Amino acid sequence: MVQYHDYDAVIVGAGGAGLRAALEAGKRVKTAVVSKLYPTRSHTGAAQGGMCAALANVEEDSWEWHAFDTVKGSDFLADQDAVDVMCKEAVTSVLDLERMGLPFNRTSEGKIDQRRFGGHTRNHGEAAVKRACYAADRTGHMILQTLFQQCNKEGVEFYNEFFVMDLVMVDGACAGIVAYEIATGELHVFRSKSVLFATGGYGKIYKITSNAHTLTGDGPGVVYRNGLPLEDMEFFQFHPTGLYRLGILLSEAARGEGGILRNSDGERFMERYAPTIKDLAPRDMVSRAEFFEIKEGRGAGPQQDYLLLDLTEVDPEVVEKKLPDITEFARTYLDVDPVKEGVPIVPTAHYAMGGIPTTIEAEVRRNHTGDTVDGFYAAGECACVSVHGANRLGTNSLLDIVVFGRRGGLAMAEYASTHKQLEVPEDAHVESESWIMELLEGDKREPSHAIRTELQDVMWDKVSVSRDEEGLGHALKTIDTLKARFADAHVKDQSKIFNTELVEHMELGYLLDMAEALTVSARARTESRGGHYREDHQLREDDHWLKHSFITRNEEGDTELGYMDVTLGRYEPVERKY
Ligand SMILES: Cc1cc2nc3c(=O)[nH]c(=O)nc-3n(C[C@H](O)[C@H](O)[C@H](O)COP(=O)(O)OP(=O)(O)OC[C@H]3O[C@@H](n4cnc5c(N)ncnc54)[C@H](O)[C@@H]3O)c2cc1C
Repeated sequence: MVQYHDYDAVIVGAGGAGLRAALEAGKRVKTAVVSKLYPTRSHTGAAQGGMCAALANVEEDSWEWHAFDTVKGSDFLADQDAVDVMCKEAVTSVLDLERMGLPFNRTSEGKIDQRRFGGHTRNHGEAAVKRACYAADRTGHMILQTLFQQCNKEGVEFYNEFFVMDLVMVDGACAGIVAYEIATGELHVFRSKSVLFATGGYGKIYKITSNAHTLTGDGPGVVYRNGLPLEDMEFFQFHPTGLYRLGILLSEAARGEGGILRNSDGERFMERYAPTIKDLAPRDMVSRAEFFEIKEGRGAGPQQDYLLLDLTEVDPEVVEKKLPDITEFARTYLDVDPVKEGVPIVPTAHYAMGGIPTTIEAEVRRNHTGDTVDGFYAAGECACVSVHGANRLGTNSLLDIVVFGRRGGLAMAEYASTHKQLEVPEDAHVESESWIMELLEGDKREPSHAIRTELQDVMWDKVSVSRDEEGLGHALKTIDTLKARFADAHVKDQSKIFNTELVEHMELGYLLDMAEALTVSARARTESRGGHYREDHQLREDDHWLKHSFITRNEEGDTELGYMDVTLGRYEPVERKY
């Protein structure tokens, strides 16, 4: 039996972006948050290092310097109107959180303390600047708790452990969503005047990732299956300091506090790649430098396949007090004490720059020519607004989710106040229902977990820090085979109550969608820019490629690519030097 619910605003996802949107919408219209996880388990809670804003509490700073760094860090692919909005609103966004009670670290004068982070500089690249506001290395945890409390205070309603499977589209406009209740196996249709997706990233397409198990690209996957585009999917960020073999993140804050990267000779190799800001160069450059160090035989360890994060020259008290969690990770998982010895690290799949294309009001774009989808919004890591372009700077994501979450919440409430609910057809849930029935009752062959592992392996081997035509072609063939196997795969557990095998199966479908969209977009882009490095096309080519990619899948199941110009502004593209 399908159950119906009626709202003015429905937000899918209870991470920082979803909760910030819900808080704004919830003050104005009847609002629900639908989330596959209990809100405080969202990945935002794992964010460590900080959220940046040019508060100038510790050193001279300005939002315009922040905007310059963001555009340069993005390898000039970010839309500069969106970057201006984010960097200007950063200051009030941090102060809003402070007023809500977020326990930021303080300076001795009682102001919000700030620290250095990669790519953030003073006066257009002169030297690293202290711009990241933080709560030890648990900044995201504090943001999530603070926003959840505020949403409860505003009377936002929560549907936790509800898995959203589909959009309800009526004449090209969004009229609601279809969700599967994990506890009972029931389907629910939420009729809503406006819907906002804030479903987070999809690092789980890769074998080694800092991302939580649930980051599987469901939101962008639903959008892609509805024939709507995804933007800049080829740009995925690899963070330079994941724990060796595990990928668990050691925040860039470790380098912000003075940590140094070294190769097997003990050399501070980043001096060669980025002479001015060295270890605090943007992540794409540092990860690529690590890739070359290992490739050229200067990796550490018996297999010369990792590098070392050296914190031994940082005051042990700073390490213990300002980086308590990551210090503990190194001790627990690798049995290495960062205060005494270098920690083995490798690049780890970390952040999706691409996603659901939106305007600066978080409205979802229907195509690359500027139309939008009525009643449909997206914000946070699942969206591409685009403030991060080809490479995101550290601490700009917690900022992005709060700034554009807020704008999305406002925009959807405004839309809901001026529009009527569209009539939702009675069969809105039927496609989802038949698919589940077939999976549970059908007699299919293969369990899906092997497909997941093979996908993660091929993406890691062929579509990660370095790419080329041959590898991308190979990956695409593999993805096609895996898609065919998936269509014929089966779920063993036939129960309705907490069928997590079924949930993981649905997630795998979205992982395959994300992998396809990413790999096709990466193969088409025959240049290197930001996180997308092609060994067979090593230069950035602004004449051809200063544009955003839009990928769609048509009804026949074929992918199509379109391109949209980058919105430039004060900064003309120049060679990136640090
Ligand atoms: C380990 C780690 C450390 C990080 N550190 C920093 C940092 O210091 N600074 C910084 O700026 N950024 C950092 N980042 C990045 C940043 O944390 C994320 O990009 C950001 O928090 C994403 O927020 P979000 O609200 O978009 O998504 P998330 O917080 O991931 O939330 C996604 C939500 O969507 C819901 N959802 C997903 N699929 C479905 C579905 N099918 N149905 C219903 N609900 C669904 C989930 O339940 C969840 O509530 C870090 C990331 C990681 C992984």
